[in-house]
Amino acid sequence: MRKNVIAGNWKMNKTLSEATQFVDDVMDKIPSEDKVEAIVCAPFPYLASLAEKTKGTNVKVSAQNMHFEDNGAFTGEVSPVMLKDIGVTHVVIGHSERREYFAETDETVNKKTHAAFNHGLTPIVCVGETLEQREANETKSLVETQVKKAIEGLSNEQVAQTIIAYEPVWAIGTGKTASSEDANEVCAHIRQVVKSVTDEVTAEAVIIQYGGSVKPSNVDELLAQSDIDGALVGGASLEADSFLQLVEAGAK
Ligand code: PGA
Repeated sequence: MRKNVIAGNWKMNKTLSEATQFVDDVMDKIPSEDKVEAIVCAPFPYLASLAEKTKGTNVKVSAQNMHFEDNGAFTGEVSPVMLKDIGVTHVVIGHSERREYFAETDETVNKKTHAAFNHGLTPIVCVGETLEQREANETKSLVETQVKKAIEGLSNEQVAQTIIAYEPVWAIGTGKTASSEDANEVCAHIRQVVKSVTDEVTAEAVIIQYGGSVKPSNVDELLAQSDIDGALVGGASLEADSFLQLVEAGAK
């Protein structure tokens, strides 16, 4: 049985005191780890202190991006070695905002996914189509390409540990959610794609989240679907109460 993984992607939001307050508010209220996994994806400057603070609790701390090299002359970048060193456990890779505004490509996503595993970080790999692509009926072929490229060269064991987030770009931050049936259809397709390049056991193990305007009022319906194993949540993860409700829904 796959466990739901609820990840709150704060994006470029919160001050240090707000981030700290959030974690203080939720830390002791998260259900046990065997029921649900709860992750906060915080801005770089807060990762070290949040990782320290949440040590031994059921809250995991994720970066929102990283470079694929271990170190070197890459001004302004953060490496997987640094993230691991400060106690970060997860890293979001290939978010559509990185793809759109920061030239992230399927190739760099693949390099980063490898780098994450090389340093003991769990990648949360984002895939998803734009509205234009959906209307042109390209959703399935596009996510197939994105998923295959992202996991290319990984062992089946690594693929099984990868978290894939299906996030239709048109649903991110817009208040528009894919219907739970549509979202599930794409997530089931992603699982088939994983199976086609690995095996059934791996495909059954891989966690596939849905993301795009998930909130407490629609999360139950999404999580009730056969192939949706959690959510990557932006806006509705910024308030502690709302994040807790999402995590509780994941524990049901
Ligand atoms: P949203 O963002 O929940 O605000 O739509 C989701 C995401 O970008 O991960």
